[in-house]
This record gives sequence, structure tokens and C-alpha cells, in this order.
Amino acid sequence: MKPKVAIFEFGCCEGCQLQIPNLEEKLLELLEHIELVSWREGSSAHSEGPYDITFVEGSITREEEKDRLRQIREKSRILIALGACAHIGGVNAIKNSMDQEEVRRYVYGDKAEWFPSIPAMPLSAVVPVDYVVPGCPIDKEEFLEITKALLMGKTPVLPNYPVCVECKRAENICVYEKGLVCLGPITRAGCNARCPTFGNRCIGCRGLIDNPSINAHKEVMARYGLCAEDIINKYRMFWGYAEVIK
Ligand code: SF4
Ligand code: SF4
Ligand code: SF4
Repeated sequence: MKPKVAIFEFGCCEGCQLQIPNLEEKLLELLEHIELVSWREGSSAHSEGPYDITFVEGSITREEEKDRLRQIREKSRILIALGACAHIGGVNAIKNSMDQEEVRRYVYGDKAEWFPSIPAMPLSAVVPVDYVVPGCPIDKEEFLEITKALLMGKTPVLPNYPVCVECKRAENICVYEKGLVCLGPITRAGCNARCPTFGNRCIGCRGLIDNPSINAHKEVMARYGLCAEDIINKYRMFWGYAEVIK
């Protein structure tokens, strides 16, 4: 029997799921080892469960979604947060620091009362999450590696060092030297410092490393004449739900 795999989504753009068909031939190879039993975006199959491995994309932005997520959790042996929205709240949580009624009126206009919403939260705020595939969007190869590890009964391991390590390995010039503010010192590596390598700043899409050295980051910013208050909106891009900016 192949392990039964399901993919579900909550509030998000579904861009992380789109990385899965982008695996092309590798997806066909993966399908030799799993049975995809529920995946609205990519398959007509639908199963009420149980599931061996469930990937859940998106953040929770409506009260009733909490019950749906709890039901999915109950049916899933392993539950994985797929992408930054599911992992850390992501871009949806930008609204958390704003007046929620005002946000709803801005988005839905005179139909705002039809769309009750709550501050965005990651899956882990509602149910236990076993593993995460970080990023916005996810890295399809990392998705594949994590899935393969689970199929082999191994524990998927994410890098627990900051993006700066990969950035220095790539011999990039630090973007602080160009006057940009970069969250690389406290963001989890694993993307090969994609953004600084192309001259942009890291905006933190892979979430915080465990025990981030906030003081070290403050020191870097102080060296360039900045303080946390100066860049708090940059932290909010992905970390609106995180305690680190509260
Ligand atoms: S993490 Fe980014 S790409 Fe993935 S669903 Fe959320 S907004 Fe879309
Ligand atoms: S702060 Fe950003 S640009 Fe500078 S080394 Fe770290 S990741 Fe690279
Ligand atoms: S450099 Fe930062 S923002 Fe860019 S992909 Fe990596 S973690 Fe995400």
C-alpha cells in the first residue's frame, strides 16, 4: 500500500502548491511512491481520509477555518505546514497590526459584513504541526527532499543557521553596504541566500531560526545607524504574527 497523501489550503495565493506540478518529471517519479488522495488544485481525487501525510497551505483567517483544520489534523498521521502563510502567518498577517474592521472594509467595500475574518495566524496556533516546508513560495526541491525523508521514515531536518551563512559562502557583498535592511541575520537558511545573491535584501520568508540572536541583529543595524523601530514594517512583511516584533 502506498502512503496516502493529501493537500489542503486555507487563506493564501496557492503559489506554494503550484511549485508541486513544477516538479514535472520528478512529480511523476514521486507518484510511483505515494497515492495522492485529495488535492483540489491538482487532482479530481477526493478522500475524506484518513491520510498518512497531509500538506496544509495558507493561514487561518476565519473562525470556522479552525474547526476544518482540527478535522484535517484528526485524520492526518503527519501534518506539514506548506509555505510561509501556513508556517508563520506570512503576508496575510500584515493586517494583524491594523484595525480589522477597516481592513475588511478596504478589501470588501460595502459587502464587508459578508466576509467575517480574524487576525491571520499560522496553523500551529490552532493544531500541532509536525514539520514545515518554509518559504514564499516553497522551494520545490526542498518539498521533494522533505517528502522523501518522510517516506523513508526519517525526520526531515531544516538548516538552523541564518541566511547570512549561505550569503557569505556565496561571497556576496552585504546589502547593508548598499543602504538596504536585510533580515538575513535572523532568518532560517536553506534558500542559498537567494535574494541577497541577486542584490536584494532578505525579507524573512523562511521564518526565524531557533533562538535568533536578536542582539546580534541589533548590533548589525546599529553599525549602519538603524534601530529595530526604524524597520519594524519590514519585519511585518512575514512576521506579523511573531512575538519578535510585538
Ligand atoms: S507562502 Fe507565499 S506563495 Fe505560498 S501560499 Fe503564501 S503567499 Fe502564496
Ligand atoms: S545581512 Fe543579508 S546581505 Fe548581509 S550577509 Fe546577511 S544575508 Fe547577506
Ligand atoms: S533570502 Fe530571505 S526572503 Fe529571500 S528566499 Fe531566502 S529566506 Fe526568503
